[in-house]
Amino acid sequence: MEPTELPALPDARLAGLRAEAEALQSATVELRREIHRNPEQGLRLPVTQAAVLKALDGLPLELTLGKSTSSVTAVLRGGKPGPAVLLRGDMDALPLGEESGEEFASEVDGTMHACGHDMHVAMLASAARLLCAHVDELAGTVVFMFQPGEEGHHGARHMIHEGVLDAAGERVQRAMALHIHANMPSGHVFTRPGPIMASADKFLVTVTGQGGHASAPHNAIDPVPAAAAMVGALQTMITRRVNVFEPAVLTVGRITAGTTDNIIPEVAELQGTIRTLSEKTRALVRAELPKVCEAIGTAHGCKVYADIEPGYPVTVNNASNASAFVGLAAEVLGADRATVMPDPVMGAEDFSYVLQRVPGTFAFVGACPPDTDPLVAAPNHSNRVRYDEAAMPAGVAMYAAFALDALR
Ligand SMILES: [Zn+2]
Ligand SMILES: [Zn+2]
Repeated sequence: MEPTELPALPDARLAGLRAEAEALQSATVELRREIHRNPEQGLRLPVTQAAVLKALDGLPLELTLGKSTSSVTAVLRGGKPGPAVLLRGDMDALPLGEESGEEFASEVDGTMHACGHDMHVAMLASAARLLCAHVDELAGTVVFMFQPGEEGHHGARHMIHEGVLDAAGERVQRAMALHIHANMPSGHVFTRPGPIMASADKFLVTVTGQGGHASAPHNAIDPVPAAAAMVGALQTMITRRVNVFEPAVLTVGRITAGTTDNIIPEVAELQGTIRTLSEKTRALVRAELPKVCEAIGTAHGCKVYADIEPGYPVTVNNASNASAFVGLAAEVLGADRATVMPDPVMGAEDFSYVLQRVPGTFAFVGACPPDTDPLVAAPNHSNRVRYDEAAMPAGVAMYAAFALDALR
């Protein structure tokens, strides 16, 4: 299989996938709403796992459940020999209360499927059903990766550690994941060659001075002006140290210090995030941040401790696979529904761990609600976000098309 090959399946069959996905839509919607009503966070998602198992019940799949997480790995062996490919859908929800107004809104206080992962699960389950009907045409094996803990919990890394990439008995040759997007037109597919999502590292800078009376700062060591100087200096560091053609975002999202107006506190803290699109820039910013903060701390007589917690790496699409995916989407969904994104997005994704090991594609499926301008629709992670369920057949069809194309 050459990744540069354009899809050579007959048009009728590719176009037929969309109709087959449409025929599964009532089951897709039912599963999506069931999961949406019962959202779970993190790595342990027993209710979601049970819903996945129920949806896959009776299909000719080899099922493995995660040990460290509530993952489900399903293996479909095609009628002919060939390589293995992986399709991934993440399963977890977010810590926020739902205010979408949907009739199937979350029944769990403080937890909401605000990132569309409920739709990913439903689309992947329907794609499994669709591909089972095509099992005789598959020259190879499909691994379905139902993954908990995408929202900061490194769920993909847990599943890789437990062997998901070798679940077919051999290493998968290609991998693909879809992500629903509230601010893209419904049913359209978007991806790009190369970096598509950013790395995301957290930092916490602790600035320690010496507390005292607010009226006599010369008798104290005030950490507040030191911390304030760091906020500006970090932005200057980004513009002076990082090549302007290498994107980097550094945001201080939280500052804490003090208790009241007339006390100089002993400690101030800065918390924030670092986003980049290359491991080189990521390493540079991670090396420079402590230097800047420590030097400013020294100038103010404060002690500084800068801690950087590594998050997800850059999500990098295989260039030829992602280009071929756009061609495939054009055949399945129509040329007007397949778009190469001009720019990456600075969010992060733990499918990056899979794409570090296996060439493949991460792509977005637009699901902006009808009669809503995608530019102003409530975004992913909003308590008010709503998604157009009519976008799901496009996702089901693209999951299936990716496997059928790779295993023809
Ligand atoms: Zn998310
Ligand atoms: Zn997500």
